[in-house]
Amino acid sequence: ATSPTPTAIPAATNDAQFARARGVLPGGVDSPVRAYGSVGGTPRFLVSARGPYVTDVEGREYVDLVCSWGPAILGHAHPAVVAAVQEAAARGLSFGAPSPTETDLAEEIRRRVPAAERVRLVSTGTEATMTAVRLARGATGRELVVKFAGCYHGHVDALLAQAGSGVATLALPGSAGVTVSSAAETIVLPYNDLAAVEQVFAERGEHVAALITEAAPANMGVVPPLPGFNAALARIARAHGALLIQDEVLTGFRVGASGWWGLEGQVEGWVPDLFTFGKVVGGGMPVAALAGRVELMERLAPLGPVYQAGTLSGNPVATAAGLATLRAADASVYARLDTVAARLGDEVSAALSAQGVAHVVQRAGNLFSVMFGPDAAGGVRDYAGAQAQDVFRHAPFFHAMLEQGVSLPPSVFEAWFVSAAHDDVALDRVVSALPAAAKAAAA
Ligand code: PLP
Repeated sequence: ATSPTPTAIPAATNDAQFARARGVLPGGVDSPVRAYGSVGGTPRFLVSARGPYVTDVEGREYVDLVCSWGPAILGHAHPAVVAAVQEAAARGLSFGAPSPTETDLAEEIRRRVPAAERVRLVSTGTEATMTAVRLARGATGRELVVKFAGCYHGHVDALLAQAGSGVATLALPGSAGVTVSSAAETIVLPYNDLAAVEQVFAERGEHVAALITEAAPANMGVVPPLPGFNAALARIARAHGALLIQDEVLTGFRVGASGWWGLEGQVEGWVPDLFTFGKVVGGGMPVAALAGRVELMERLAPLGPVYQAGTLSGNPVATAAGLATLRAADASVYARLDTVAARLGDEVSAALSAQGVAHVVQRAGNLFSVMFGPDAAGGVRDYAGAQAQDVFRHAPFFHAMLEQGVSLPPSVFEAWFVSAAHDDVALDRVVSALPAAAKAAAA
């Protein structure tokens, strides 16, 4: 990858941009974690991104370990994706009618995950999980949803209870504006606790429409499923006539060619009833999807009684970006993602250990995150464990990295995202920044 080519840099500082933004956008942002609330300071206002780098309004370049929170597996502005978008845009931005690229993208998803027999394209992960829950309720005639504390499934009312991601970052219990009745239809259990799942299903299983889980949680920091956990969820849900929704919005087509299911379900021989995908399927444009068995998916309108629709669903430009991204994401891309993540995780750990900072680097495939503190160091298996870490060490670590030109997720509860464009030059820049950041975290 190469450094960004010079672009016209608006004559302004990040501080000036933030002040201006706060005058018109609540908190100066359109998605909460971007506001740097838990690390303090001024968010960087980005004007361009290429390969492993992003550039802010002041012309400073950073190695990017956020990668748009997941989509950018090929790196930013990959030539094949940009060309596909430009071509599609030139042919029209939105049709509001079927177009061939939608079918191409859905077929590519099914090629990678055969249990995705039918696919409904939507625009955000939130829409995908919201529709999956509605479909599960419509198909089972039941109302309850079981989720896990620390798992984030977008900002669907029924799924915000003890959600990770920005809800964790802001230390909110859920959200104002969610009705009591909606929250009452959601049962929240500790992650990785099979006994708790067995007990709830034994007591109320006949009322449960869906059990929804992140395939490998990465919104409370990375907390991998214990061996056999997902398989047991599939078994328990089936035994009680409930549907298992595996949320692969974050893991799908990032941790491997067939997502987390490819790493685990395919090997162990289980499939969820419904999948949700997002992020990588749009290659940086707004595309997400839900998918599953024919008889279930055909309960969606127009074939069935479960309503779902979208003005921009299957948008031709967005689906062109997703298709180009998946087509470029071959075995060498996944091999590179794994190599980059393995090296970075090891280097971070070594730098923190050298400064005597108790920590653990938790991994799930090529996703990883750092959890600080002696309590975390033995390994974190649920949300309570993630919250008990030394959260305060993240802000000095984050800012020391930023000062040295490395952009990390501005929350300790988020995974670090790498891309196949993170070459050794970019990685060396990260590694050389680590000692000073580890020292800052130790203070
Ligand atoms: N599900 C998971 C596992 C996610 O990580 C996210 C977003 O981070 C979502 C759902 C929601 O997706 P979106 O932000 O596109 O609505």
